[in-house]
Amino acid sequence: MTASRRETPVGGTPAHAARTLVTIARSPGAAGPVPAILATPQPDGAVRCAVCAHRCLVRPGRTGICGVRENQDGTLLATAYGRVVAQALDPIEKKPLFHVAPGSTAWSIATPGCPFHCTFCQNWEIAQGPRLGLDLETRELSPKAVVREALQAGAGSVAYTYVEPTVFLEFALDTGRLARAAGLRNLWITDGYATREAIGLLADVIDAANVDLKSFDDAFYRRLCGARLAPVLDAIVALREAGIWLEITTLVIPGRNDDEPQLRAIAGWIARTLGPETPWHVSRFRPAFQLLDVPSTPTATLVRAAEIGREAGLAHVYVGNAPELGLEDTRCAGCGELLIERQAYQVRSRLDAHGRCPSCLRPLAGTGLEGGTR
Ligand code: SF4
Repeated sequence: MTASRRETPVGGTPAHAARTLVTIARSPGAAGPVPAILATPQPDGAVRCAVCAHRCLVRPGRTGICGVRENQDGTLLATAYGRVVAQALDPIEKKPLFHVAPGSTAWSIATPGCPFHCTFCQNWEIAQGPRLGLDLETRELSPKAVVREALQAGAGSVAYTYVEPTVFLEFALDTGRLARAAGLRNLWITDGYATREAIGLLADVIDAANVDLKSFDDAFYRRLCGARLAPVLDAIVALREAGIWLEITTLVIPGRNDDEPQLRAIAGWIARTLGPETPWHVSRFRPAFQLLDVPSTPTATLVRAAEIGREAGLAHVYVGNAPELGLEDTRCAGCGELLIERQAYQVRSRLDAHGRCPSCLRPLAGTGLEGGTR
């Protein structure tokens, strides 16, 4: 979502997204521009932003590529701080995170803005709204209010999602610290464009991340997303090195990234770099934004993509946005025993109390798996 993610806020348009918001009392001073972190002023009044891999040089009166970091008189401001544009209680499986507290829910938030400009974005209004000059309805929420609402909703985690959350890094860090102190997990649903400096800060609060690996072709990233491949691969490695649980998602788009050599390259890289027990979600594309003339991904392509993942040695390959295929269950990487059944966000775990296969006692890779479904 980050400009192209497959999970969407309820409704999917700014107006609909706003309807998912929960009315709360505003905390004075909770929202609005705050000085940006990882910002280096230049002698000429410009400021270099090191939050995402674009590393924009933002000149006075201008914003960075994301549209929400603005140079005001030589100070870079994070204008999206606390401006929540979408908020919903989602199954954690919708993120998708399949190896993190199965059956739990995630209080999911986003602000406007995104450093990617994906032509196939499912959340393009909120992601591209600032850049396109859309008048988005937002609510001002403090980090404390977000955590309070998450707890009231019975969520097990807070998810930073729907757009690329690096654009609201300061808000996510402040919220994440409070969420962790309150016993909630923090989930980072991302295009993988945070810099190593930003990931160094996130390492203190984020428990798990789902990263889009949209393609293994730099030209795809340049032409369809306004980004580059190499920083994404580097961010994925940095997230892993930071000790954050990782799952990878690839939205399979007909004629754009669905060729077998490319899918093999993605699956092989995941298996070699992150290990064969890293979950890979291959997800069905549906026409959106500027790719309305591209058809939905055929089921045969998705089934073949999953086969390619398994041929590359990946033990946990899932097919998303195609529930009719029934390819969302988790099996033991050792003996093949069925461990977690999933059907339309209904989850049934057969893991033992220690998060292990009940048959061969091999631990399932992931986090928050002890104690079964919650
Ligand atoms: S977050 Fe990324 S896109 Fe936005 S100003 Fe910083 S470097 Fe540029």
